[in-house]
Amino acid sequence: MAARILDGNVIRDQIYGELASEIRALAAARIRPGLAAVLVGENPASKLYVNSKIAACGKLGLSSFLLTPRVSVTTADLLSQIDELNRRDDVDGILVQMPLPPQVDRSKILEAVDPAKDVDGFHPSNIGRLVAGRPNLVACTPAGVMEIFRRSNIPLDGASAVVLGRSDIVGKPMALLLLHANATVTICHSRTRELKEIARRADIVVAAMGRAAMVTPDHIRPGAAVIDVGQNVITDRTEAEHIFVNFPEKLESYRAKGSVLVGDVHPDVVHTAGQLTPVPGGVGPLTIAMLMSNTVRAARLRRGLQAPAAAAVPI
Ligand code: NAP
Repeated sequence: MAARILDGNVIRDQIYGELASEIRALAAARIRPGLAAVLVGENPASKLYVNSKIAACGKLGLSSFLLTPRVSVTTADLLSQIDELNRRDDVDGILVQMPLPPQVDRSKILEAVDPAKDVDGFHPSNIGRLVAGRPNLVACTPAGVMEIFRRSNIPLDGASAVVLGRSDIVGKPMALLLLHANATVTICHSRTRELKEIARRADIVVAAMGRAAMVTPDHIRPGAAVIDVGQNVITDRTEAEHIFVNFPEKLESYRAKGSVLVGDVHPDVVHTAGQLTPVPGGVGPLTIAMLMSNTVRAARLRRGLQAPAAAAVPI
């Protein structure tokens, strides 16, 4: 039997609907949350990501500000721009789009963002709060995955969860969020031995490795919930034909465009998993939704306002 597909677009729309009423309540108090995006250089993928974040602000009625320093910007210049954003009262959230050019000290930049405006949840103080179980602003992608679990009624308490990947932005915060939700968590990475056997024992698998279709059906216990964070663009015809041999419509799309997006989870897993997020249309839409949610939350917390009883996202 095919897995239940966990549609990220539907969950995103639910969150947007709930956020809209929070935003209206803030507007009544003359508060319009604002997000500043810092986009260094001309990286086309980064431009695309930032444009969709700014478009989401427009859709929800949040203010947005775009700073576009040249690719030759120095760490000192960027630090002074961040400092200005930290001081501005109309800016509630600051995101610095990654990657930064090699001459810029990434850690210094991330640490310079005011933790109260750190809507990406990358500041060490926000990571520390997450470790301590007192989250403030949490990294958007793992926070979005938690919304998928919550809104799809997937039980976490006592569940065995395996997180594939240990990056600072996805794997580690994901594992902490699952741990705080009382899952028993195992983190796997590129040095893990017997990854397949470990994954196959899990009730829940979250794949965030950036390895196209690596998680095959023999990694998955029948009926497990599988969350595919990976986003990999396949341009090689043989590889596309190999991965999507059972999915002619995907191959059709590859032939039309010359590329196709695939997650870290092999599409054949749909016949083994109990629940599965698609790529695209699974975790991706939630990442931006949680950025919006974090911006509204930051606007509220900076002013000492309580979350409404029906807040879109409980943390
Ligand atoms: P990353 O920083 O490159 O980290 C990848 C992690 O996977 C590392 O911990 C690495 O292990 C591990 N890994 C790599 N190859 C492996 C293998 N063969 N076996 C086991 N573990 C392996 O990537 P990331 O930023 O976390 O992103 C991961 C994926 O999620 C990417 O495809 C990215 O595009 C996608 N992503 C999607 C969204 C979204 O909104 N949908 C958001 C963020 C990221 P080591 O630590 O040992 O090197």
